[in-house]
Amino acid sequence: MTTIAFIGLGNMGNPMAANLVKAGHSVRGFDLVPANLETAKANGVAIAAAAGAAVEGADAVVTMLPAGKHVLSVYEEIVPAAAKGSLFIDSSTIDVESARQAHAIAAQAGMLSIDAPVSGGVGGAEAGTLTFMAGGSQEAFTKAETVLEPMAGRVVHCGEAGAGQAAKICNNMILGISMIGVGEAFVLAEKLGLSHQALFDVASTSSGQCWSLTTYCPVPGPVPNSPANRDYKPGFAAVLMLKDLRLAQEAAQSAGAVTPLGAEATQLYALFEAMGHGGTDFSGIINFLRGDSRGIPSEALERSGS
Ligand code: NAD
Repeated sequence: MTTIAFIGLGNMGNPMAANLVKAGHSVRGFDLVPANLETAKANGVAIAAAAGAAVEGADAVVTMLPAGKHVLSVYEEIVPAAAKGSLFIDSSTIDVESARQAHAIAAQAGMLSIDAPVSGGVGGAEAGTLTFMAGGSQEAFTKAETVLEPMAGRVVHCGEAGAGQAAKICNNMILGISMIGVGEAFVLAEKLGLSHQALFDVASTSSGQCWSLTTYCPVPGPVPNSPANRDYKPGFAAVLMLKDLRLAQEAAQSAGAVTPLGAEATQLYALFEAMGHGGTDFSGIINFLRGDSRGIPSEALERSGS
């Protein structure tokens, strides 16, 4: 049995911590929101009075927080409170620069650390089937694998510090762009009098095939459990897609990468969110492209230059 501290018990963190408890680990948790602490307690997590108290004597620490600034401020508090040689795993989706700073804080204090953001959403967190993409030393990764195992379907070592975050934002940039591409194709098909099913049957077995089409189809019908069949209830909310696309754009700017489609996708999701659709599943962008009542009038798209 390992003693694990878990900081950040929100939509993702709570089911992840619950799976660590189910695997027989002793889990101590902390969050700023009392209702989240109540849920954690009901799942068998021991509640600590503060983040620093949660990590005292823990073998490993998992953080699942909103953004880089939260991770860095929590690390400033918890790294000095942990035993030397403890393992720090940050599973939040954050910018690559902050991830590297978090590694540096841990390394200076003699800790092992990995950045290990996840793919799979709340469903994957509940089922214990998340994909973890990890960055850090081989030693840290090998130790982290056993901690991550009860929460994971797959754990991939992507490289050194920050490589997990890099993999996450590159993957989600592909996803954001491809969902817009698939949405545009269905909108064009509608205008041309082609049925959704006919386009799906052809493209899903042709060169247009991709995850956004075959697993997460943005029109109701062809893939019965995609969010389009439940009025675009998430799933993966558009606001989270926008967050990841912005992280990719920040990284592209600082690394000097040319990502014109990533930039365009960011702008389209920003407009979609500004029109009040941030809580909609990200595949709902098709309604925005179509300019129907759940999107925005097409003149607004023209005005934006998009
Ligand atoms: P969330 O907002 O539900 O949870 C974050 C939690 O962190 C909140 O409960 C908040 O109170 C807590 N927190 C913030 N500052 C804190 C502090 N100083 N000390 C202790 N707790 C603090 O968000 P979430 O959906 O669980 O996402 C967490 C991370 O996982 C984000 O980086 C997100 O981008 C990423 N992610 C989310 C999903 C998803 O589908 N929700 C999927 C993949 C990755």
